Amino acid sequence: MRAEIISVGTEILLGEITDTNSQYLAARLPAIGIDLYHQSTVGDNLARLSEAIERGLARSDVLIITGGLGPTDDDLTREAIADVLGETMFVDSEAENRLRAFFTARGVSFPERNVKQTMLIPSATAIPNPRGTAPGWWVEKNDKYIVAMPGPPAEMQRMWEHEVEPKLAQLGGAGVLVSRVLKTIGVGESHIDEMIAPLLNSANPSIGVYAKPDGVHIRLAAKADFQEAAWVLIAPVEEEARRILGTIIWGADNDTLEGVVGDMLDARGLTLATMESCTSGLLASTITDVTGAAQYYKGGFVAYSTQMKMGLGVSADIIEQHGAISAEVAGAMAAAARRDLDANYGIGITGIAGNDEVEGKPPGTMHIAVAGEFGADNISYTFYQGRQATKRRAVTTALFLLRRTLLAQAG
Ligand code: ATP
Repeated sequence: MRAEIISVGTEILLGEITDTNSQYLAARLPAIGIDLYHQSTVGDNLARLSEAIERGLARSDVLIITGGLGPTDDDLTREAIADVLGETMFVDSEAENRLRAFFTARGVSFPERNVKQTMLIPSATAIPNPRGTAPGWWVEKNDKYIVAMPGPPAEMQRMWEHEVEPKLAQLGGAGVLVSRVLKTIGVGESHIDEMIAPLLNSANPSIGVYAKPDGVHIRLAAKADFQEAAWVLIAPVEEEARRILGTIIWGADNDTLEGVVGDMLDARGLTLATMESCTSGLLASTITDVTGAAQYYKGGFVAYSTQMKMGLGVSADIIEQHGAISAEVAGAMAAAARRDLDANYGIGITGIAGNDEVEGKPPGTMHIAVAGEFGADNISYTFYQGRQATKRRAVTTALFLLRRTLLAQAG
């Protein structure tokens, strides 16, 4: 079964929004045995959208379309499908009544142009959309399928999960692809590649190594008739990769480094405090992206100026002797955060996220420290990748350093 995704919207072509719908859908098709051969984006234009649908029907079994189901004149997905299939749209009176009731229940008058969202063609059935006003379309004609879903991701994802995926999974049939992503940190891409070289000849599962912002990922992807059979192929290769890489692997699939480190703290009943200079709260924000972070995260300081660092207990002597951007000051910040907030561990970050030298040190200079009862550990490096990425890398490194410390403390 060959599929193709068409995202509709001039906003995407202008670069105003990112087409995350296509990415979401593409990631989910392999697991239901549907091969994705093409993806395209078309603006809000009837002729070009019709042309894309016509071309799609000629080369694919399933067209998955997102966007263009709104009530306005430039929402043209229904019109284009009707046009290509040579069918006439009609108002589905039951759907119209439901939509009118939806507006009445909210005390809002019904905009007549919304009737457009209740239109169908003979080959289409409506797909319910409890998160919005536009139902989707499930179209079957001449052994081809067209699925049209609304553009807003929350509506599209709910519709996909509850209505579309289960139906398409029944059509998929011939073979499913499942994958496991193992996430590593602290060792470079080529070194990882070397370490797992004996596994790289494997064809099923196939193995890919990718450098990502949170470390190097190893993707094992297996194809089989059923999901269970594909997992059986992955299991021994995963086990061997885990044996070779040990604690270099910090997580899998959707795990995040902040989540994994948070779990380690939580499991041992330990607490954490932070003091950040150049990352200015990005570490605190990342730590608190995890549900339940309140169990272990006491809080943090954004100590951007030297004056504030001193106010929070970083000694003036250390700053004078080593400069504000130094491993010693990062260590003193970590110790001060830990002391001030009465936490088991403190993290300190000081460095240069901007493009200019400071204290005669180059952009990208970074000092990160962890302090605890055991003493302190730190990592220093220089790597400038632009302001945002430099800050992000510092946060990832801080979490890596804390994980390394916690592993060492565990014995
Ligand atoms: P609506 O009922 O809201 O009008 P629609 O089906 O007509 O829905 P569009 O008008 O094409 O959808 O897009 C509405 C919004 O949905 C966009 O402004 C954008 O925020 C989001 N959106 C649309 N397509 C995508 C996409 N491919 N990826 C991510 N977001 C998208």
